[in-house]
Amino acid sequence: MRHYTITLVHGFSTFKCLLCKHSVTTQEFHSENGNCRTQAARAMNEHAAATHSPGPPSAYDSENWRTR
Ligand SMILES: [Zn+2]
Repeated sequence: MRHYTITLVHGFSTFKCLLCKHSVTTQEFHSENGNCRTQAARAMNEHAAATHSPGPPSAYDSENWRTR
């Protein structure tokens, strides 16, 4: 399942999280490390896993549940 939307802004693909305001653009990655879109997609998947991981705490604001 995809956790992000992809929009083209000023020639760069912007990957935006569906669940919060987090976003990355292909501009942030360097092609010498591999395909920028692949890296951005991986970053979004890691973000989703870290921030919106499945389980009971996901019902809470991801910023706050750790401190409860
Ligand atoms: Zn998010």
